[in-house]
Parts: sequence; C-alpha cells; structure tokens
Amino acid sequence: MKIIDGKAIADQIQAEIKETVDNLVGRKPCLAVILVGEHPASVIYVNRKTQACAQSGIISIKKELPPKISEENLIREIEVLNRDPNVDGILIQLPLPHHINPSKVTKCVNPEKDVDGFHPANVGKLLIGETDGFYPCTPFGIKVLLERSGIEIEGKYAVVVGRSNIVGKPTAVMLMQSNATVTIAHKYTQNLDDLCRQADILIAAIGQPLFIRADMVKEGVAIIDVGINKIDDPSRKAGYRIVGDVDFENVKEKCAFITPVPGGVGPMTIAMLLTNTLLSYQHHMKKT
Ligand code: NDP
Repeated sequence: MKIIDGKAIADQIQAEIKETVDNLVGRKPCLAVILVGEHPASVIYVNRKTQACAQSGIISIKKELPPKISEENLIREIEVLNRDPNVDGILIQLPLPHHINPSKVTKCVNPEKDVDGFHPANVGKLLIGETDGFYPCTPFGIKVLLERSGIEIEGKYAVVVGRSNIVGKPTAVMLMQSNATVTIAHKYTQNLDDLCRQADILIAAIGQPLFIRADMVKEGVAIIDVGINKIDDPSRKAGYRIVGDVDFENVKEKCAFITPVPGGVGPMTIAMLLTNTLLSYQHHMKKT
C-alpha cells in the first residue's frame, strides 16, 4: 500500500513552475483573483492562491469587491481584466452572493484566460478531446496525481462517485480521454457497492464523510479521495477534524494506492491553478 503524498507532488510542481518563471525574460505570468464580499472560507482560499503565486514568481492581482456589487458592475470588472494584455488568468472565487448568477458571470470570462476551466468553451473542449483549453483544477490535479504516482489509467475500470460540474463530471471525462472505462455514480445509482468493488481506480467526490467503506473496494485498488468534510472531534482543540469521503483507516490496507485527507488532492488544486496560469501565459506570448 502506498499513501500518495499530494503535498509533496504539489510542492514539486510549484518548484518546477518557479524554475520556469524565474528563467522568463520580460513580463511574468499574472493571475487576477476576484473576491466578492468577505465570506471567511473564500478569504482564506484567495489568500492561499495569491501566496502560492508569490512563491512561484507569478504575479497576482487581488480584486476585492463589495458584497453588494451589482452583477452588471462585476461583469464590467471582468471585462477590464479580459482586455488587459498583462493578465493571463482570471479566477472568480465562488460562492458568489445570492443576487449574482455564477453561471452568467463565469461565461463572461474570456475562455483564453479561464484558468479555472469552468467556461462552457473549455468544458466543451475537454469533452471533445481538444487539448488547447483549460482543464478544471481539481480534476486536472487528480489526473496528475495518478500519472506522477505511476498509476496506469489506460484500459482500467474507473468508478467516479459524484457528478458535479467542478469535480465528478470533468474527472470522468479526463479518465475516459486517458482510455479508462468509466462509470459515473450518483445518488440514484443502483448497486453502488457492487460497482465500487469492481473499480481499479475509485474516485470519491461525494461530500459525505467516510462514505466509502472497506467492504466496498477490491484488493489492489487505487483510490483518490476528493472529499473535504468536517466532523466533530472533541479531542481536538478546534473541536473538529477534516476527513475525506473514504474511511481511510479501514480501507487503506486493501489499496495499492490511496490519497489521504488532508494532504492528497487539496494541495494539487492550487498547483494546477498555477500550471494553468503558466500555460495561459505561454499561449499569450506565442501569439504576440
Ligand atoms: P457536490 O455536492 O456538488 O456533488 C456531490 C456528488 O456526490 C453529487 O453528484 C451527488 O449525487 C453525489 N452523492 C452525494 N451523496 C451520495 C450518495 N449517498 N450516493 C451516491 N452519490 C452521492 O460536491 P462537489 O463535487 O463540489 O465536491 C465533492 C467533495 O469534494 C466535497 O467534499 C468537497 O468539499 C470536495 N472538494 C474538494 C476539492 C479539493 O480541492 N480537494 C475541490 C472541490 C471539492 P447527485 O448528483 O445525485 O446529487
């Protein structure tokens, strides 16, 4: 059994990005992050992203906008960044306040700067197998974790539990593009336990603590646990701890590979955001 160290792989990717950026002559890659309001978790995520940029030599612009900003004015801010030739990537931190339609706003980001990979143009490219779009960061991180851990995808049977637009669906498509045979499972799936037991690669993106039990997996499976769930734990100072969607302690002995939570997929999401920003920069520089 090998526990995949997502933090170490993410650090390695960040170091590779830093080396590339340090060797660039002239303008450096630039990521603009838009934060609407002061949602505490969003403030933490945005700070982590801008810190990671700084550590990799990527310039970041933090646009902090008032929570009551109108949808129209937010779109105007996005359009300014769309036109700015010095901005390579634009990220809108979600969730947005209720009066703003996230789907409408996401579509206003220039697809060539959509480093989150949420614009329908990039989602479409992923589906038809065109490789010049942006992959969404968490699924991209999952793919890279599998590749860098030497886990073969081609010809394998993969089960993805969860079908969200940001994790489950794009992960399933990426595995299919890498020649896995893929099943996507969700709340309406019958015989979920049986399906999971057949998986060579099991992706848990459910949002339910410790959902995947030892009796649901086969010996030798590779498991990527995307879930981030808070559960009460009075023994901890904070009164809670973070667990994944997989019952790690009981499942791990059956696995050939497994990611821990925390320290698995989480750190990869930011590493892939930086990767996408660098890719966008390289694409823009080729065009100028
Ligand atoms: P969503 O809530 O959007 O999707 C959850 C999916 O799980 C849905 O498709 C749902 O099915 C399915 N599901 C829920 N309960 C069951 C069940 N009992 N049986 C089968 N399927 C079920 O979550 P996200 O995809 O956004 O996130 C999933 C998890 O990953 C969360 O814990 C989240 O915090 C974490 N996450 C981690 C990231 C990271 O960087 N590590 C990034 C993004 C998310 P249905 O569609 O039928 O409702």
